[in-house]
Order: sequence, then C-alpha cells, then structure tokens
Amino acid sequence: MAEKKHVKSVTIPVSTFENVMKQFDQAAVRLHVDPSLMEFLKYPARSTIVKLPVRMDDGTYKMFTGYRVQHSIVRGPAKGGIRFHPDVDLDEVQALAAWMTWKCAVVNIPFGGGKGGIACDPSSMSKDELERLTRRYTAALFDMFGPDSDIPAPDVNTNEQTMAWFMDTYSMHARHTVTSVITGKPLVMGGSLGRKEATGAGVVITTREALRHLNIDPAKATASVQGFGNVGSISAMFLQKLSVKVTHVSDVFGGLHNPDGIDIMALMEYVKEHKKIVGFPGAEAYDRNEILYADVDILVPAALENQITEENAGDIKAKIIAEGANGPVTPEADAILQKNGVFVIPDILCNAGGVTVSYFEWVQNRLGYFWTEEDVNVRLERIMTDAFAAILKVALENDVHMRLAAFMVAIQRVADVVQLRGIYA
Ligand code: NAD
Repeated sequence: MAEKKHVKSVTIPVSTFENVMKQFDQAAVRLHVDPSLMEFLKYPARSTIVKLPVRMDDGTYKMFTGYRVQHSIVRGPAKGGIRFHPDVDLDEVQALAAWMTWKCAVVNIPFGGGKGGIACDPSSMSKDELERLTRRYTAALFDMFGPDSDIPAPDVNTNEQTMAWFMDTYSMHARHTVTSVITGKPLVMGGSLGRKEATGAGVVITTREALRHLNIDPAKATASVQGFGNVGSISAMFLQKLSVKVTHVSDVFGGLHNPDGIDIMALMEYVKEHKKIVGFPGAEAYDRNEILYADVDILVPAALENQITEENAGDIKAKIIAEGANGPVTPEADAILQKNGVFVIPDILCNAGGVTVSYFEWVQNRLGYFWTEEDVNVRLERIMTDAFAAILKVALENDVHMRLAAFMVAIQRVADVVQLRGIYA
C-alpha cells in the first residue's frame, strides 16, 4: 500500500482499491446474491503491468511502468480511461477499473470496467516523448485492447491527441483502421459530437436533479469546483449556464474566488493561453486546498481521488457534493457527510456522462453513421435523468444514501448477468 495523497498537508496512507471494496461490501450485504459469486464480482478479472522503454529527446532511454486492468467483462468489453500521472500504481488503476464496472452498470450501457495508466509526469515531457510513450504502451498491451474486448478513453492528463496516437498505433498493428478501439477521439477521425463536454454535462444534469430533489433554486445557488481540467471546467461552464454562481475554482497550481461569480468562459479562454488558472484577472487568489471548505451550496471535486477524508469531511459546508472525479470521498468521510446531511451524488452516477457518450461514440464507429449533437445530448439527458431517478428511488425505499443505492443497483445488474450466463468451469 503506497504512502501518498496529501490532504490539508497531512500525508495519509490510502489504498484506493480498499475503499472500493468497502463500498462494495456495504452494498453487497444488502443484496441476495450467492456470497461465492460476490468474490468473483469484487476482484479484477485481469491486471497487467508492462515496462516501457522510451527514447527521450536527449537520446537517453527511460523506463516507465504501464498498467491495464480489466475489472469485469461480464456485461461487455472492458471500458475505461488511460491516466498519465506520477501517482499511478496498480492499486489506483484497479480501483478506477472497478468503479468503471459499477458506473457502466448504473447507466445500463453494455460494457464492463477497465482502466489503464502510466506512472509519468507529463508536465516534464515533450510532445514527442509523450507520443513515443503512448505508442509503446499501446503496442505492449495490443493483445488486451480491441472493440470487442477493451476500449480505452481519456482520463487525467490524456486527451484527444493521446487517443489519436493510440488509435493509429493499434490500427498499424491490426493492419486496418480501427476507430472503435478507443473513444474520446478527435471529431475528424471518428470522435462523437458532445464527447468532450459529456462528463461535465452529466455532472450538471445530476446536480440539477439533486437541486430539484432538495428544493434549491439553481439561480440562488453557489458552487465551488476543485480541478479545472476537462471535467472541472466543463462542469463549471454548465453550472453557470444553469444560473448557478460559481464562486470558487482551483487547479493544481492555485485557487480563485469571486463572490459575484467567476466568468467561466473567460477563465476557459485564459487557461487555453496560460495553461493554469493562476493570474486570471477576474477573481482573487485563494488557497487551493481551502476551496473544498467554501461556504457554497454545491461542491464539485473534479481533480483526483481521496480528497475528502475522515480528517476534513466535517469541515465541508456544501449541501451537495457532485463527484466529478472518481473516488474523491473515502468511505469514512461518507459516513460523516451522511451524518451532517450532505447529499452526495456518487461518482459512478455523477460522472457517468463521459462513458455514456463514449458508448455512443463506439456505437457510431461500428455503424459508420454519425449522429447530430442534438441526438447525442437528448440521449445523454435521458440516460442521466433516468439513472438519477432510479438510484434516488432505491435510496429512498431502502433509507440509504445515494452511493449505497448506486452500488446496490449496479452489483445486482452484474450479478444477474453472471447468474444467467453461469460459471464456465
Ligand atoms: P484533467 O487532467 O483534464 O484535469 C485534472 C485537473 O485537476 C487539472 O486542472 C489539475 O490541475 C487539477 N488538479 C490536480 N490536482 C489538484 C489538486 N490537488 N487541487 C486542485 N486541482 C488539482 O483530468 P479530467 O479528465 O478532468 O479528470 C478529473 C477527474 O475526473 C479524475 O478523477 C477522472 O478520473 C475523472 N473523470 C474523468 C472523465 C473524463 O471524461 N475525462 C470521466 C469521468 C471521470
């Protein structure tokens, strides 16, 4: 178990995969599923670690470690992003893969769960080095990937360009162009309209439903957003479109505060040029870590996991936590938040808009027929609102919080398929 994750300047040992298992166990005991099957559902089906030699720009070779985990392929091909980050390790990738299994089941799309990553610091690497690293990773794990077996997508520090290199490398080895092996691609090479915005759009659709459930008028609500990458910036943009005042945002370099609301579109333009939010003229500087404790209605953690723990959960003032990130709240923190009446929209529901439109992208690639942005958004809206309503119903009927309800629904859906398929032995 790695010593990592800094919260309020305290270093705490956290196994993210243990957190997922705790979440699983809490839900599993409430379901009537054969306990021996539970073990099968809980642990990753396949975890692969590869060593990746990459030629750096100065002519030397550097070794990187890459991971791909298929947590479950019971309901369909493994689906899940690829992360580039110094903290990537097997524990984290296994956790993220497991969350993908439950997320795809929550929104009822025909995929299992997977995740990949490379331990690297992309901020210290050139574009050419990142390209060679991506291609070497794709080639090393070629046998795992495929439109019917395992379909990656972007995650932290990977983007459309990374997906394009992946698709090209996979296609060179396959000897023909395979668009449906990866999602989150650039539009011109088979990407879907609405994919880049999909995770943030889903975060805000579920937040809107939570506001409605709690009888809070969006026009009177305020929000704080941690992380200003794909998920954080787009969530902030859609919150503003919903008339919510976004008063606090942060990225890894610093935080911003404006009590009158930050102009998110202007900030997005600023970040395009400066690559960070620090120095934006439309807001005051604010402590990056403190934005979690801002006196707002909605908190959107959209950076990394294990941000809200038993050490700081009591300091959260928001009424709603919309989990844009995967695993931002630990199981111990969940209990404290529940006691304090905070409504948590769990990651496996809240940020499922991304994988939902990834599914649409895969469908379009396989059909060779592309949908309009309206088609995509109407379908996304329906899937996210239906999923929110279904999870809320289970939560209210069983008097449990939303995460437990989401896990109960998801595990039952996967277990039902296992029971029907039977165990091949
Ligand atoms: P990204 O790389 O685009 O952005 C990450 C952001 O977090 C950056 O702005 C970075 O500066 C910031 N950050 C990192 N550490 C921070 C800290 N300690 N405090 C404040 N900000 C910090 O990544 P992303 O794709 O937006 O992913 C963010 C989260 O959302 C991850 O947990 C990811 O797994 C999850 N997620 C992403 C998608 C997707 O479609 N991209 C889908 C579902 C879930």
